[in-house]
Amino acid sequence: MSRVDHATPTAEVTALWDAVVGQPELVATLAHAAADAGRIRRGEPGPAMTHAWLLTGPPGSGRSTAARVFAAALQCAEGGCGTCEACRLTLAREHPDVDQFTPEKLQITAEESLDLIRRAAMTPIMGRWNVLVVEDADRLNDVSGNALLKSLEEPSPRTVWILCAPTAEDVLPTIVSRTRQVRLRTPGTREVAEALVRREGVDPALAAFAARAAQGHIGRARALAADEQVRLRRSEVLAIPGQLRDLPSCFVAAQNLLDAATADAAAITDALDASELATLMRAYGEGATGAMAARVKRTASAATKELEARQKSRRTRTVRDQIDRALLDLTGLYRDVLVLQTGARVELINDELRPTLGSMAAHGSVQATMARLAALDHARLEIAASVAPLLALEALMVKLARGG
Ligand SMILES: [Zn+2]
Repeated sequence: MSRVDHATPTAEVTALWDAVVGQPELVATLAHAAADAGRIRRGEPGPAMTHAWLLTGPPGSGRSTAARVFAAALQCAEGGCGTCEACRLTLAREHPDVDQFTPEKLQITAEESLDLIRRAAMTPIMGRWNVLVVEDADRLNDVSGNALLKSLEEPSPRTVWILCAPTAEDVLPTIVSRTRQVRLRTPGTREVAEALVRREGVDPALAAFAARAAQGHIGRARALAADEQVRLRRSEVLAIPGQLRDLPSCFVAAQNLLDAATADAAAITDALDASELATLMRAYGEGATGAMAARVKRTASAATKELEARQKSRRTRTVRDQIDRALLDLTGLYRDVLVLQTGARVELINDELRPTLGSMAAHGSVQATMARLAALDHARLEIAASVAPLLALEALMVKLARGG
């Protein structure tokens, strides 16, 4: 791994940074910054450190992991040992001076921005720095973004902003110009597979499959390697093209895909919903009696309604995410068909399906494959833009069956 000389990481620092897969340049930059952050605290110059960062990288490249590891390195007295209390609390998302804000709505609201500014003005309670991680900073609009500018430019002396976004182009230019940008790339199949073997003890053959199937998305690779249900779901999705014979079978396939996505989303959100509700109930004192109990009940019911509304919107978003995941898998399948049709010399994503892919390639034209890929793109955009998923999926299945 290449690193800048002055970062001189110890073996322990490497263990912490090891969680950031396939990003040697980014690790070098941030480890150096963390070392300089320590110098700044001692009153020495530390040019590699700055108070506002923008981490950019495609979905699944590990942006939030990189942000959290960097936050741990900043809080750690040794620049990121990976084992001290500061490191452990930060990695477990429990450090009181590391705030990770994940927007729940499509845009970050002015109200949420004001809350971030308030938190940015605080001094650290137990840590060395007050770190604010903002995920999806591309969701800052003119109003909420402009509200942040002053705080980004001149935060409290111990505050560090770490903004995350897919690309700098997605973020307001006024925000970008006030940050130092560090880019993550899509990690290679081999790097992801190696990380699965080394860090999670996954069998090498399974790790290679998961990394290939996930196409550089680390979280997806981890899920494919760890969970047989996820692998099963994926092969069900990849079997869809073979089932599209006529109009009724297209509608059945669309409904099945939606049902599967809904079930998978419920598996993710149900446990979260229950624990949030339990926390809320505890906050309102479940044990109150008499007149007190009646008053508590009224207040609790308003708060419960608000929580339920938030959970419902999260459930909707999670279903859409699951559908998008399935459509990405189908895109990979047709991409492989195109590879075989054009004789391109690249690795197949679905190498284990070579015979099926070969027959799909032989029975269709390049134009039809391109049209199917375009239809998948179109459906993903529609669903992201809140078109009813079933309608978008039905239209898609018909286009996949016809070849455009
Ligand atoms: Zn540490």
